[in-house]
Amino acid sequence: MLNFCQTIIKKRRWQALSPVITLCLLLLSSQNTQAQWYQKTASIMGTNIEMDIWAKDQSQAEQAIATTLMAMNQTNQMMSRYKPNSELSQLNQMAFTKPMVVSDALWDVIGKSLEMSRLTQGAFDITTGVVLKTYDFKKRRLPSTRQLLDAVKKVNYRQLVLNPEAKTVQFLQQGMSIDLGGIAKGYAVDQAINALNTLGIKHARVTAGGDTRLLGDYNGRDWSVGIKHPRAKNKMAMALPLRDVAISTSGDYERYFIQRGQRYHHIINPQSGRSISGVVSATVLAPDSMTADALSTSVFVLGIKKGLALVDTLSDIDAIMIDSKGKVHYSSGLQPPSQ
Ligand code: AMP
Ligand code: MG
Repeated sequence: MLNFCQTIIKKRRWQALSPVITLCLLLLSSQNTQAQWYQKTASIMGTNIEMDIWAKDQSQAEQAIATTLMAMNQTNQMMSRYKPNSELSQLNQMAFTKPMVVSDALWDVIGKSLEMSRLTQGAFDITTGVVLKTYDFKKRRLPSTRQLLDAVKKVNYRQLVLNPEAKTVQFLQQGMSIDLGGIAKGYAVDQAINALNTLGIKHARVTAGGDTRLLGDYNGRDWSVGIKHPRAKNKMAMALPLRDVAISTSGDYERYFIQRGQRYHHIINPQSGRSISGVVSATVLAPDSMTADALSTSVFVLGIKKGLALVDTLSDIDAIMIDSKGKVHYSSGLQPPSQ
């Protein structure tokens, strides 16, 4: 059962640094007297952004923060389906009538999404957008059965046609709609980390909602990254010691409402158009955030057994899933905490 206190689990492949290397790192950092950690929080994509950046001075920190926020803002401007003028909204409006040329960024994210759809046999499907439009989680509005039946007919990643030469995207069915909510935040975090790498930053944490990526270590030690408790606000279910890795959590507590004892939330079975039950939280560790983000949504949809089985076939990927009874399940690359 889920432990309310923090639980530390160790990842076999990310062992703590040896004491000798740790000491060297501490000495190196203490030689540069101005270097220190800089923090920034912001709100983009309706999501809390948090950054910790190890910079050599205030000016490098300010540049790093500005560049990073700009990269994340640009992603949001392009990929939000709530912004009528975003590139994604225009694609959704026009892609049935003719093949639409898309930016490199949108091309990469849609391409990766299709790769994930094939890997998960359709559990991850960005054309679920048409179904998502029928729900209103803020107004607690559910689609009628008729609306759902009509919407799911338009969900099919195979009817999304990409032409690599022309970099165009086309819908084969009228009324199709793409939603990148399960992958775009991960892409944005990767963009932020790329920007930090370009500026020569070696140690940082960038978080956008449930998506975090770590650059290097934290003062020569692992970072400690918490997984939210799915049923207790402001509590952590556990903490993981990590470095140089991305971690994403998908939860049924992010956008939801409860009606007649039933929880309706934002992670959807593309075939039925209904919220997934049986899983309450799915966390994925991966080398980059876009993969971690897409896979956390995917394994949530696949469920505990199929989700973990998929993760066990993938190299450099691990997962922690919490079922609706509060039991925690681990992929085979992780060492569960001793009880
Ligand atoms: P995340 O919090 O990363 O798991 O993303 C959840 C978001 O992914 C939802 O708010 C939707 O925008 C989108 N989504 C929901 N169900 C699916 C699905 N089956 N495949 C792809 N995206 C989905
Ligand atoms: Mg996701």
